[in-house]
Amino acid sequence: MKWETVIGLEIHAQLATKSKAFSAAATKYGAEPNTQACAVDIALPGVLPVFNKQAARMAVKFGLAIGAHINHRSVFARKNYFYPDLPKGYQISQYELPIVAQGKLTIELDGVEKVIGITRAHLEEDAGKSLHEDFHGMTGIDLNRAGTPLLEIVSEPDMRSAKEAVAYLKKIHELVRYLEICDGNMQEGSFRCDANVSVRPLGETKLGTRAELKNINSFRFVEKAIDYEIERQIDLLEGGGKVVQETRLYDSDQNLTRPMRSKEEANDYRYFPDPDLPPLVLDAAFIKDVERTLPELPAAKRARFIKDYGLSAYDAGVLTATREMADYYEQAVKAAGADPKIVANWVTGELSSCLNRDNKEIGQSPVSAAMLAGLLARIADNTVSGKLAKEVFEVMWQGLGDADAVIDKKGLKQITDGAAIEKVVDAIIAQSPKQLEQYRAGKETLFGFFVGQVMKATQGKANPAQVNELLKKKLAP
Ligand code: ADP
Ligand code: MG
Repeated sequence: MKWETVIGLEIHAQLATKSKAFSAAATKYGAEPNTQACAVDIALPGVLPVFNKQAARMAVKFGLAIGAHINHRSVFARKNYFYPDLPKGYQISQYELPIVAQGKLTIELDGVEKVIGITRAHLEEDAGKSLHEDFHGMTGIDLNRAGTPLLEIVSEPDMRSAKEAVAYLKKIHELVRYLEICDGNMQEGSFRCDANVSVRPLGETKLGTRAELKNINSFRFVEKAIDYEIERQIDLLEGGGKVVQETRLYDSDQNLTRPMRSKEEANDYRYFPDPDLPPLVLDAAFIKDVERTLPELPAAKRARFIKDYGLSAYDAGVLTATREMADYYEQAVKAAGADPKIVANWVTGELSSCLNRDNKEIGQSPVSAAMLAGLLARIADNTVSGKLAKEVFEVMWQGLGDADAVIDKKGLKQITDGAAIEKVVDAIIAQSPKQLEQYRAGKETLFGFFVGQVMKATQGKANPAQVNELLKKKLAP
């Protein structure tokens, strides 16, 4: 039997507000435990929540970017459950009337585009954190995160493979960072995802029973967890068993999922509108105002880079992966006055590999766009060869000055003086009578040998075009 996989994702994006969703406490990551939890966050009796308008702006921004319907009236609801890191005994969320509904996002996989439906995106607050280490058999509770605003983005069950799910997740990740509504940091938990996975016989239209996978905190693990789960469900069904609807935890050490709890139904949560919070009502002017803050979106930027700079779709994709990367590229192009394709090669090549190697974000690059432009100008005016320019770049990366300073200090200036190069060429030919004889007898591959010797003798500084030309002339029989 052939099986089809069905996947829907629930993504939690922590909104990048300074203060919490319903209190004035700070949201900054990494503070001493319980130093950013006020009376509202720890649920002292008698406190009242006050909604943070910035969170609404961010949710609307997201909704507009995915072409969704913005509900002018949405309702906060209490989702009741009991857990030590949830002091109120309920989470404020949105249930029947979310702020954002019915959007979509186009993903691309192996050159094929596909539209993924987004059912809804609703505002809610985060819970605190239970700490299991360093408490000698007890559990510590840190309520700094309690009350932090989240946007939960729920997709339609439109994905058909783990790869599609990852492509969609990456698109959302890219988008929330473009919109500057979430920092996207998966290690710190500001961007999290639950994957709902089911399988069904190919051709079947009814959905199969799903498992919900939790605890997946990297793109790589999302793919692995889903692939493991697909295989588990198919094995189970082919063995005559049944998939039970449940929540499963992904164990990245062992690369498997294991049951955590049976799946709760909505009525287990006893949802009801929060009597402490009036409905969230947005007028058209507010939405218009948010619309004006929308940046150029990734797809539009990509298309513009292809058109304006003549880049390949691949390069345009790499260069627009983040707004910072795209800005860096455009600054370098403007400053360099160089061929945009050459700038693209340097940014996707040398710069990106240094960033990867040193685990740095583009914003932390020791080589600024202006410094890169300075180096490209020195290649263009033949001060330094393309090959040695890489060395210059590496030294600039170490923080030892701009291109001119480095070329000067390291003596990497290209030799373009024809007479000087000719002297070296003559010397090399004189030293290599055997190779000369063989070359003239037809062994043309030896040309490379002569080029290599000249470059070696000049520490790579001779202008390669001039070397080639001179050698051709002098080696000719
Ligand atoms: P809950 O909030 O209880 O998890 P929802 O009905 O809101 O349930 O669905 C959550 C996610 O699960 C959505 O992304 C949806 O697309 C996905 N989903 C629902 N049914 C299935 C299924 N049978 N297989 C895969 N994904 C599913
Ligand atoms: Mg769910």
